Amino acid sequence: MTDFEATRAMFDLPEGVIYLDGNSLGPLPHGVAERVARSITDEWGEMLITGWNKAGWMDLPARVGDRVGRLIGAPAGSVTMGDTLSIKVYQALASALELREDRRVILSDTGNFPSDLYMADGLCRTLGPEYQLKTVAPEEVEEALDETIAVLMITEVDYRTGRKHDMARLIARAHEVGALTAWDLAHSAGAIPVDVYGANTDFAVGCSYKYLNSGPGGPAFIYVAPRLADKARPALSGWLGHEAPFAFDLDYRPGAGVERMRVGTPPILQLAALDAALDVWEGVDMQDLRARSLELQQIFIDRIEASCSDLTLASPRDPQIRGSQVSFRHPNGYAIIQALIADGVIGDFRAPDILRFGFTPLYLSEQDVETAAEKLCAIMAERRWDQPEFHRRAKVT
Ligand SMILES: *Cc1c(COP(=O)(O)O)cnc(C)c1O
Repeated sequence: MTDFEATRAMFDLPEGVIYLDGNSLGPLPHGVAERVARSITDEWGEMLITGWNKAGWMDLPARVGDRVGRLIGAPAGSVTMGDTLSIKVYQALASALELREDRRVILSDTGNFPSDLYMADGLCRTLGPEYQLKTVAPEEVEEALDETIAVLMITEVDYRTGRKHDMARLIARAHEVGALTAWDLAHSAGAIPVDVYGANTDFAVGCSYKYLNSGPGGPAFIYVAPRLADKARPALSGWLGHEAPFAFDLDYRPGAGVERMRVGTPPILQLAALDAALDVWEGVDMQDLRARSLELQQIFIDRIEASCSDLTLASPRDPQIRGSQVSFRHPNGYAIIQALIADGVIGDFRAPDILRFGFTPLYLSEQDVETAAEKLCAIMAERRWDQPEFHRRAKVT
């Protein structure tokens, strides 16, 4: 059994704060600051440019990629790290479209994160007028899969409602009609059990600064199915995805396997932060994590529904189709979240009316969840959110 008391002790959370936003930016685990400081002083400071070899910087995207891979069911050597998730979405889609050159349509759903849709649309515009991004309602994805679809691009867990797609089923359906699949695991990696290899997706991408706690701006990951990794063209053909970057050839030759998905110089300090942050996962069983997350979510839903009836559950009631977050709707959602933050409980708001709460058993206790629900219901009962300071919109919500 996973020892969640032990994992909780591995985080540096500020006194008096209950953090229900680890689905957006994970908190700081112990050891990360020291590790980054060591990378700066002992590696960069002392080794200077020789750090690329001596400190193993050049291999960090692959080494850390393997550690992330273990959390999403990816075999060793099938994941690499770098860039941002939006960039990795673009690469996966461009690669997939090229592998299915007889087709022109990317299929996604209206619950997807806008950046994924923007990147897909931008790619289609670059490729030409015959390329098209088609979006349907989340419940209609399966029906919309037909022989015109080149690639199915789906974010497994909806960033607003937490609704979870049946990944294995949709991949099987997509393959039946000859489409490739690219899964966005931004709200899955480190949140729920994932088996990219077993589910047989062609591509998967995700970020590390949410449930994997790498810190703001941490690098993204990309998985390419080993059966495709030597065939997929990376689209963004940077020198570090080249077979021999230091041959400085004028012609591009893609590197072996997923290494070709690398683009430029890797963010070493952010990778060091992620490497240290991943230590908290040693000894964590993803099935235990899932069970604990659902337990905490249920406590929260029950408490809120029992005591503040003006909040409407926006997440699926069925835990089997819910990720690791719970959302409620309220027309004054923004101000309510601001009042809650002022009271020491951090959640976030997503337009137009979603109050969003992430559940991360590594550092959240039952007591935290109960206190958070109590505070939220007290704010609602006393209308404490209805003060001018809580209505003022900041740049980031
Ligand atoms: C968080 C998130 C992103 C963010 O992309 P970045 O390029 O890392 O800013 C993209 N897609 C999804 C589904 C997300 O949840």
